Amino acid sequence: MLYIGSHTSFLKDKQLLGVVEESLSYGSNAFMFYTGSNQSTLRFPINHELRDKAHELMKENNIDKNNCVVHAPFIINLANDSDEDKYKFYIDFLKKELERCIELDIRKMVLHPGSFTKLTREIGIKNIANGLNIALSDIDDIELLLEFMSGKGTEVGCSIDDLQGIIDLLDEEVKDKVGVCLDTCHINDAGWDIGQFDKFLDEFDSKIGINKVKCIHINDSYNTVGAHKDRHANIGYGTIGFDKLIGVIYNPRLDNIPKILETPWINRNEKDEWAPYKYEIEMIRNKEFVDYINK
Ligand code: FE
Ligand code: FE
Ligand code: ZN
Repeated sequence: MLYIGSHTSFLKDKQLLGVVEESLSYGSNAFMFYTGSNQSTLRFPINHELRDKAHELMKENNIDKNNCVVHAPFIINLANDSDEDKYKFYIDFLKKELERCIELDIRKMVLHPGSFTKLTREIGIKNIANGLNIALSDIDDIELLLEFMSGKGTEVGCSIDDLQGIIDLLDEEVKDKVGVCLDTCHINDAGWDIGQFDKFLDEFDSKIGINKVKCIHINDSYNTVGAHKDRHANIGYGTIGFDKLIGVIYNPRLDNIPKILETPWINRNEKDEWAPYKYEIEMIRNKEFVDYINK
């Protein structure tokens, strides 16, 4: 079964209810959102009435909460512990975000593993595993998904070996709570041809296990294979192209795993900005590219 959705906005007034309404307007049966700003730690309280209404609306429209994810804010960096207070603050904030997920009754959270900056990749991997061991030790019924990154700057998690390295260092009871989120733009930018995705999956399966893949971000890329850049393009408008992305979305080995679009909004000018997701989801369902931007 195809579970497809997009990044959406979680705003103070309507919160999760707004997320569900927005998703339905695109024809989604999955979604992702940040529980506040992705660049800051400011968070408004969760309104339980809006949450319950949102879950009711999801039920009415057959949206399974298992296909819905929260994205942790970008500012959390577990890879770098050179400032001990900051490192502790990020672990603590991650814990709070996980508790916020539970309060919203959304049980999956995607996290960028982090950047090692002036340390080394190896130490970065250890720091991430240690941070997760602390943050996840006494939280249950939640899955934290480490995102596969493009390798921009000193990002950790831009190879199967990096992710395997982190997972290997997790405590046994924490390991069960950790999965992986793939991202087609990041995998392309990290050096894999998306046209050969089965080769990637073979290696992933032998080193980590394909059962650890719990979410896939579907993005085209503005850059070439191995560019280590991370600039998302709209589906069919980038270097990966529509057909290769359809190959990933309908790969039988990834059936039933939620696919989430994080493609950019279309803006011809500041006054004319719109979300592409309704069109992208329709093209994906029909398996046919339409040049809707220039039409
Ligand atoms: Fe991400
Ligand atoms: Fe992503
Ligand atoms: Zn990205």
